Amino acid sequence: MKQAVHPAVGIDLGTTYSVVARLDDTGRPQALINGEGDQWTPSVVLVDEEGVVVGKEAVKAMSTDMEAVAECAKRDVGQRTYHKMIGGRQYPPEALEAWILNKLRVDTQQQIGEYQKVVITVPAYFDEVRRKATQDAGYIAGFDVMDIINEPTAAAVAFGFQQGFLGQDGKDKQRRNILVYDLGGGTFDVTVMQIGAREFVALATDGDVQLGGRDWDQRLVDYVAEEFIRKHGVDPREDANAGGRLWRECEDAKRTLSARRRVKIPFEFQGNVVRPEITREQFEEMAQDLLDRTDFTTRQTLQAAGLQWNDIERVLLVGGSTRMPAVVKMLKKLSGKDPDRSVSPDEAVAHGAALHAGLLLAKHQGRTPKFRIKNVNSHSLGVIGNDPVTGRPRNGIVIPRNTALPAAAQRIFKTQKANQRSILVEIVEGESASPADCAPIGRCSVRDLPRNLPDQTPIAVRFRYLENGRLTVTVKVVGTDRKLRHEIVRENSLNHDQLNSWRRYVSGLPPLAEVVVDDA
Ligand code: ADP
Ligand code: MG
Repeated sequence: MKQAVHPAVGIDLGTTYSVVARLDDTGRPQALINGEGDQWTPSVVLVDEEGVVVGKEAVKAMSTDMEAVAECAKRDVGQRTYHKMIGGRQYPPEALEAWILNKLRVDTQQQIGEYQKVVITVPAYFDEVRRKATQDAGYIAGFDVMDIINEPTAAAVAFGFQQGFLGQDGKDKQRRNILVYDLGGGTFDVTVMQIGAREFVALATDGDVQLGGRDWDQRLVDYVAEEFIRKHGVDPREDANAGGRLWRECEDAKRTLSARRRVKIPFEFQGNVVRPEITREQFEEMAQDLLDRTDFTTRQTLQAAGLQWNDIERVLLVGGSTRMPAVVKMLKKLSGKDPDRSVSPDEAVAHGAALHAGLLLAKHQGRTPKFRIKNVNSHSLGVIGNDPVTGRPRNGIVIPRNTALPAAAQRIFKTQKANQRSILVEIVEGESASPADCAPIGRCSVRDLPRNLPDQTPIAVRFRYLENGRLTVTVKVVGTDRKLRHEIVRENSLNHDQLNSWRRYVSGLPPLAEVVVDDA
């Protein structure tokens, strides 16, 4: 068989740690190491006078140079700017994510040679704007992003590979339902999937992009800080570097509490010291509400999939935070079975992404792919209209959440006067009827409707979610076939020129000739 020209590379771009994997010559996924010799790269960026440093070294700077450090940029993806200034400058989260990706690219190219085509993972619960921003980050980092894939789906693919679902006899395997519980550093995702005859079908998905290990860390940070205030009357959290140092101590203590029943957290600030001891029980109590939120979401997702616990064959644990014994206990109580750890919770997502990259490259080369992935959308798509009763703006849902992808829907808008030349459609994602509670995707504007259309001419706007959760829109006058030119104006996105100049700046690489722009 002819060798693939491109290596199949997948990247798990995590909130706290990132991992790169590729398929080896036998088609097995394998994690690659970074320049420091580690499989995991902390997703932390230090921007100082000497340049940009990513990973372990940037983590160290959190105790001395916190003002110059960006961490958890993934939590801000989809916003216009990162939530704080870095060295007195504002950055779009895409650029910070791109620096992480760029390091991964440069480091891994040392091992496997130059490559551009990759698959990057996103939380299933990421909305459309965050998905686009992730693709943009990949582009800035010098990649050609073939696709994005949901993290729980990737984990399920890695699991399926390991269980022989993708092999020769994969087609004879019985269908089974699994629940993927992914609790990482910054995000929580739960997805119910059906694995069968070389096919991965997501049935329902839910989550929280603001819930993860960091929130558990914060409970410890607050506990120690309050102890410090009680004893010494000052709050170490008010000093950025002390705060960074305290967080590192607490994150470490949290890991210790996964293995041991108690831990001391010594902390020194301005010559004063505290060393509170915390037991695992105390820690679990401090963070019970966080765990309860994942419990609630897990139940809801199962219900949304129309299944019960005895329909679920396995509960897959993904993400570093599933090492906390309380998570395992909770899931065991909920599901009545021992959760499955057979794929490494740190590598599963990257492995799945590499398998997906392999599938796409095979498709591009005209070979038959080994498996198929079917997803659902994690948020309802809606357009803003006026409520006929109250006259107030209201979100009208066009494609409900958990619809199998690709999915399309059409809405008819009528012109309000003769010879109207433009229409504007506001697109959002979210479950609420109130536009203020939804996430804006952008405004789709059509500026050159044909001349002399009569009043009340129906204009069809067709929305289509691709398999990866990205949106495309087409606009036509009803009864005609010609697509009308339109533009989606996205508030929190970089435009084409900005993307290219960031790409040059971060990766030193020229723009790709053909950029995938949305709104095909
Ligand atoms: P992400 O993909 O969001 O970056 P990961 O899946 O890499 O996250 O998980 C990182 C999180 O897992 C961090 O919050 C880290 O503190 C936590 N973690 C890792 N190991 C342990 C452990 N032994 N006990 C508790 N938490 C852990
Ligand atoms: Mg992760």
